[in-house]
Amino acid sequence: MQTLVADHPLVAHKLTTLRDVETETPTFRRLTDELVTLLAYEATRHIKVEPVSVTTPVAVADGVRLARPVPLVVPVLRAGIGMLDGMTRLLPNADVGFVGLARDEQTLVATTYATRLPARLSGRDAFVLDPMLATGGTLETVIGMLVSRGAATVTAICLLAAPEGVARVAQAFPDDSGVPVRVVTAAMDRSLNERGYIVPGLGDAGDRLFGAI
Ligand code: URA
Repeated sequence: MQTLVADHPLVAHKLTTLRDVETETPTFRRLTDELVTLLAYEATRHIKVEPVSVTTPVAVADGVRLARPVPLVVPVLRAGIGMLDGMTRLLPNADVGFVGLARDEQTLVATTYATRLPARLSGRDAFVLDPMLATGGTLETVIGMLVSRGAATVTAICLLAAPEGVARVAQAFPDDSGVPVRVVTAAMDRSLNERGYIVPGLGDAGDRLFGAI
């Protein structure tokens, strides 16, 4: 598995404000949206294109367009929904699937409560949106669903990652597993605490996006 930590001053600037406990929900949402668009730019670097030519007012120009089948974007409910607009801004033609997982705060084990994915993903690039790569359990489950449906590549976009989670996903999807799996994140944090939160992290991403309901 390949991990890319986006090294860009704008990414670092927006992430710093996201981390700040004083940042309130409206600003948190807007910055998440902007940050995802910046990460999506990196995450789509290897997306498949095909050659086309267009006629400009002056001459014919060679160019490219996104190849078919269109990519699939999968926000992980609930917090991943806060990343969807930022992603589809760059990929407006992508299909969108959904997976809902809830983490038991005692055992830290995530269980699936909703799945809406195409049955077959042959030849398709898939992008998973999950803000926090913490223990890696959620991402391992969701990437597994996409790989088992035949996705050509799977790229997870995470605002933050912990080394423990990255190691777990890398072990589950080694480089020789046949499907390229990548994680693109704004930062690799120190570790997890005893409650499975990323340290220093930004707290509960779902609560900060949508409120502690
Ligand atoms: N989920 C979150 O929202 N935050 C963490 O730090 C870990 C998991």
